[in-house]
Amino acid sequence: MNSRFVLRCALAAVVACAALPAGDLNDRFHLTLMRVTAGGPPRYTDALVLADVTGEPMRRFTEYSGDVSGRWVGALASVTPYVESEPQQLAPLVASILKLQKPGGYFGRAFGAAIGHDEMALLWGNGRLLIGLLEFHQRHPSPELLNSARRLGDFLVSIAPQMNSDELQQRVDQGDFAAAYICWTQQIEGLVELARVTGERRYLDLARSIAARLRRIPGQHGHGYLTSVRGLVDLYQATNEKAFLEQAIHEYSGVIDSGNLLVQGAVPEAFAPHIRRDEGCTEADWLRLSLALWRITHEAEYLRQAELTLFNEYALNQFSTGDYGSRVLAPTGISTGIDADGAGEARCWWCCTLHGLRAFHDIFDSVFRAESGDLWYDLPVDGRGKADKLAVAAESSLEANSKIRLRVTAADARPRAIHVRVPEWAASLAIEVNGDPEHGPVAAGYRTLRRAWHAGDVVELKYEPRTRAVAVPKSGRYALFHGPWLLAADSQMSPFFFDEPNPGNRLRLAVAADGSVKLEPAPGAKGRFAVPAARFLADYLPEGYPMLPQKVALRPIAEQTSAPSLSWYFLFKLEGKP
Ligand SMILES: [Zn+2]
Repeated sequence: MNSRFVLRCALAAVVACAALPAGDLNDRFHLTLMRVTAGGPPRYTDALVLADVTGEPMRRFTEYSGDVSGRWVGALASVTPYVESEPQQLAPLVASILKLQKPGGYFGRAFGAAIGHDEMALLWGNGRLLIGLLEFHQRHPSPELLNSARRLGDFLVSIAPQMNSDELQQRVDQGDFAAAYICWTQQIEGLVELARVTGERRYLDLARSIAARLRRIPGQHGHGYLTSVRGLVDLYQATNEKAFLEQAIHEYSGVIDSGNLLVQGAVPEAFAPHIRRDEGCTEADWLRLSLALWRITHEAEYLRQAELTLFNEYALNQFSTGDYGSRVLAPTGISTGIDADGAGEARCWWCCTLHGLRAFHDIFDSVFRAESGDLWYDLPVDGRGKADKLAVAAESSLEANSKIRLRVTAADARPRAIHVRVPEWAASLAIEVNGDPEHGPVAAGYRTLRRAWHAGDVVELKYEPRTRAVAVPKSGRYALFHGPWLLAADSQMSPFFFDEPNPGNRLRLAVAADGSVKLEPAPGAKGRFAVPAARFLADYLPEGYPMLPQKVALRPIAEQTSAPSLSWYFLFKLEGKP
């Protein structure tokens, strides 16, 4: 690493921190931002990113033409509002991509007349590239880029008669996983955005015809499917036709009802019956889809699902390097071993790391909500919100002391309300405004603070997290939560809990009728990505020697990001429960 490079990293760190209030979420964003702009291996050099538009087989997956390049461009363009300066590499690299477009309108390798693996893979990558380029276009509109996106859109329109075919859909779905029919249905997202910026109907018409073909099938690629469902939400927003929203909601419920949403808020890389690993991309999609449905419907269940994923699976999936990727799912949690197909954990720089970074835009965008001149604090994490002239920054230390501070950074003299959500995981929420306690009822899940705010006002929020056991359907097992965090035993702090045999280890806990449990607090070390507010000890009976009861340390799976990869055990049997 040369000195100029180090200086650029240091500068990037400063600008990212300056743009966002302090807290765990900002820290996680910064970790992945630094991975993408300066980390590795592999580093995202121009040659590595561009390899899937030049078509040169210099790295894996270049047949997914435009996949890495599109995601890289889209992710960095989308998070630009949260950093003070855009990476210098971005604009020149977009210019290089545009020069590599094929006369047929697509990018990368040749698109053959007979549709097989390589053609589907090319379509996948080109779909990611279309939306990535258009996300860059939102920040830097240019006729050249729009013309290029139009040519790609016209290519998709030209192959639609061949692609919108039952025979083809069945054939590629039977023969492939990542290069299956989802490579076609995921085009909806880019086509809707292309229709929005050009005002041209034919792209929307194509998106409609593809939407009619979207279906969830056993063993399907979760990321491809959920990206397609996100496209349905975009299509609803572009057309205002309720049928597309209903379709998206139906598909969302279908994921849950088919057993494909796991207790930690994860959707697997492959749907049942091939549930083997998680995938950062899939988790990012589920999070973004949940937030999008929440913003549209205001149904609290979508926000609850997003929060579950954000505090648990999304944190667990983030590697200490800043990468996102895949971890192996085990009958009792997460394993560092290999799955039934021989695959282990992976830092997926070719997709998840970039798609993971991209999701931060949606998360930051959902922390606060402005409505009718009021401000709503929805997600209990760090972020910024603005309603007319009222601006508020949230600084979270939830992980350390269950507190969040809202700081008013700008205000006018008009009385306005700040509505603070009281999550279902909180037994109570104590509020102080400028040091004075505020009492008031919880209405529809929110506490309302109405007054003429002044810059410098401080609202202190102190949550009282509930500790509870949740029965996991059809498993005879329980998951333990403290506040928003899923608790687990891990192979570093409690290696003996993993002694053979361990599936029959039983925790000795009294569960109250409302699910509440009492655990022995065990304050842990503070530090990056640590959650000292949610560390406990519990008694248990080891399966191999129940005559000698033991103690096990429990802590949030979110702490995985601060450690080398560990095994996590969070689907517990309880003593006295069948
Ligand atoms: Zn991925």
